[in-house]
Amino acid sequence: MKTPSADTPLSLAEAEPIVRAAVEEGALGRAEAERLGASLGDPAVHAALCEGGLESKRRGHGERVSFSRNIFVPLTNLCRDRCAYCTFAKPPDSPEARTYTLAEVADLVKGGLATGCIEALFCLGDKPEVAYASHRAWLAERGYDTTTDLLEEACRATFEAGMLPHTNAGILTAEEMERLRPWNASMGLMLESTSGRLRGKGMPHRYAPDKEPALRIRMHEEAGELRIPFTSGILLGIGETVAERVDTLLEIRRLDDRWGHIQEAIIQPFHPKPGIDMRYVAALPDAEVAGWVALARLVLGPRANVQAPPNLAPEVLEMLLHAGVSDWGGVSPVTLDFINPEAPWPTLAELESRTRAGGARLVERLPVYPQHLARPEFVHPRVHEACRSAADAEGWVRRVSGHGADPGREAA
Ligand code: SF4
Repeated sequence: MKTPSADTPLSLAEAEPIVRAAVEEGALGRAEAERLGASLGDPAVHAALCEGGLESKRRGHGERVSFSRNIFVPLTNLCRDRCAYCTFAKPPDSPEARTYTLAEVADLVKGGLATGCIEALFCLGDKPEVAYASHRAWLAERGYDTTTDLLEEACRATFEAGMLPHTNAGILTAEEMERLRPWNASMGLMLESTSGRLRGKGMPHRYAPDKEPALRIRMHEEAGELRIPFTSGILLGIGETVAERVDTLLEIRRLDDRWGHIQEAIIQPFHPKPGIDMRYVAALPDAEVAGWVALARLVLGPRANVQAPPNLAPEVLEMLLHAGVSDWGGVSPVTLDFINPEAPWPTLAELESRTRAGGARLVERLPVYPQHLARPEFVHPRVHEACRSAADAEGWVRRVSGHGADPGREAA
């Protein structure tokens, strides 16, 4: 008998036992994941897969779905890369180009503290000083050699002001991560895709040397070696194949199996926007995104934190919940999502009621999840102490009387 190829869709009768086995065993294999991925267009298979995703999530997380109340600090929107889907990065001659001074960061932090935010998400372009002399001069005027020098100071000041930084600054060396670790509760880098094909001619990472998969995997490995709770994730809909998506999820699983440091995996869909090279590329249908949430859940296992940003699929939060999502990521009452500024955050009240309507219970987390907080070797002692003072006995955010009633962390 001929063996079906990886992209042959499954019938419902074939899909159901595969999903059941994945729920029971906690780790879907490559061939099965590829065939399920190729079958998402069949509503019956899609429903069975999402049911399996939800069952697996319930086994690992019960009814709980977490979020982090945060501010987004776009320390610089200059970047040496040019990804074809990015609206965040600006060239230095753009009127929108901006690098924050420490005083400007302090203003954002003040707003965050006043509204009970705990996490300061530092998200910035990749090594702009390599590409732009004007940025090198801007840094030099303020006594910095590199953007990481500025970032380290900003993280330190933010921590000392009473918030917990989480940094995603693109590719960092092990030495740079070591410098940032004493001020960060966790760090991250979207793996995005293990596909080197996306760096080819006409592809979205053609002019983005930092999107070389080997470099990104190496940084994940080094973060593991340094014992940094690490956020990773996959970007959907930028030209990758089903097999490449599955490969990316399996790579995230391999990294976590090796180092135990992957604190969450973000399932992030590409959205076309005016002005980008990929403006005419259609977004993935929401149902397909939910299907990949379920697949990620079955590949990564019941205890993994699978995150979907609620502002990128506001119409279908319930569908994402029913596919096995366990975290909404950072949601800010103060700042925009500077990566997707056209997509407003839901209010926390809305997020809570939509989560409840989806059969789950919203809980607030720190920028480090309880499972890494419980292992002190994963967090610098100074940051660990600050995290513990903001957390309840289980490691979730402790508020004096309910969400938002207390401005968060009581002591740094
Ligand atoms: S590396 Fe990030 S900030 Fe830079 S162009 Fe690509 S997506 Fe934009």
